[in-house]
Amino acid sequence: MHYDYLVVGAGLFGAIFAREATDRGKSVLVIDKRDHIAGNIYTKEVEGINVHEYGAHIFHTNNKLVWNYINRFAEFNRYTNSPVANYNGEIYSLPFNMYTFNKMWNVVTPDEAREKIASQVEEAGITNPQNLEEQAISLVGTDIYEKLIKGYTEKQWGRDCKDLPSFIIKRLPVRYTYDNNYFNAIYQGIPIGGYTRMVENMLEGIKTVTNTDYFKAKDELGEFDKVVFTGPIDAYFNYKLGALEYRSVRFETETIDTPNFQGNAVVNYTDRETPWTRIIEHKFFEFGEQPKTVISREYSSEWKLGDEPYYPVNDEKNAALYAQYKELADAEPNVIFGGRLGEYKYYDMDKVIEAALKCVEKEFN
Ligand code: FAD
Ligand code: UDP
Repeated sequence: MHYDYLVVGAGLFGAIFAREATDRGKSVLVIDKRDHIAGNIYTKEVEGINVHEYGAHIFHTNNKLVWNYINRFAEFNRYTNSPVANYNGEIYSLPFNMYTFNKMWNVVTPDEAREKIASQVEEAGITNPQNLEEQAISLVGTDIYEKLIKGYTEKQWGRDCKDLPSFIIKRLPVRYTYDNNYFNAIYQGIPIGGYTRMVENMLEGIKTVTNTDYFKAKDELGEFDKVVFTGPIDAYFNYKLGALEYRSVRFETETIDTPNFQGNAVVNYTDRETPWTRIIEHKFFEFGEQPKTVISREYSSEWKLGDEPYYPVNDEKNAALYAQYKELADAEPNVIFGGRLGEYKYYDMDKVIEAALKCVEKEFN
């Protein structure tokens, strides 16, 4: 069998590329080594609740083009992410905003909050932040760093905050308004009916085969003019320069016979002692009123070969290794590398869509 494209990975990047190539009259085969489509945004229905099997996924973007594009495949609800932080039983609002500052210091006005933070930054003596710890303290002061950042970050990344790059924390907004919306995004929501259905709609009419690992099956799949590879770039080259590092995540999911376990979709456990980083209560992403609930405790873990790769570790060592793999990738004829694993990038969904559409543009125009 001959196809114009073999798309390896039925995640968001692969599904978009496959859709766009098909709509341009190309023949496409999509494969995935897992037993389902949708990659890490896969949702599975349990007790009438769409469970985010690979961690909570909240769609958010400032890009109208991306928003319009994704709305072709799903209707989105008005879910706004407002996680709660639990520090040894003390509850704080996230992201860091006036509600957080009020609870932490009893300050009421933005000026009082700024003053409090400025005095803590001055006391810490940081002028030119060099790592995540210094960056965090210079943004929100030492109290918030100690209670809401240090423990969570060290659990999530398995590294001391002094050894992590500062940009990780820049993802989090700091606001001097009473606004618990976690994302600075104009558009936000959850696809009604789950992400899997959304990806199914993307792949409509496109031949898709699951339980098929590219490396094991490639000689039997047929003939392809080009391969779009969205798996790990180092795996493609059989780790010949060494393995890129990831952080992995382990989820312990359970169904509980109560309609409401924690009162919010996301609760972050920011102390160092609680072993999980957060608990997700899936029904609240879709305002569910089912009689039962499904929760997932999320544990961050060191990744080793064979584990599910989740977060690329964007430190200097891994960036340098990725650059070497990128050179090999650029020299690889008729293979396009894309997505979170193919580009070894900490991509949110909207950025993956942007990247996939850009890749389509380059390929077909
Ligand atoms: P993937 O979804 O990983 O798809 C790659 C696919 O390739 C996989 O299905 C894999 O099985 C397949 N594959 C790999 N190797 C092979 C092979 N050899 N043969 C066949 N198939 C193969 N983004 C947001 O915007 N909002 C969020 O709230 C959010 N939360 C997140 C939470 C967690 C815990 C994580 C890890 C990520 C989160 N993201 C979030 C990011 C989001 O998951 C990604 O942007 C998106 O899923 C990436 O899509 P992708 O297609 O690049 O990769
Ligand atoms: N973070 C934190 N405390 C929190 C939530 C996040 O210190 O309660 C830090 C942590 O270092 C994390 C970073 O902020 O890696 C980015 O958080 P985000 O929720 O964006 O991470 P995600 O899990 O979505 O990648």
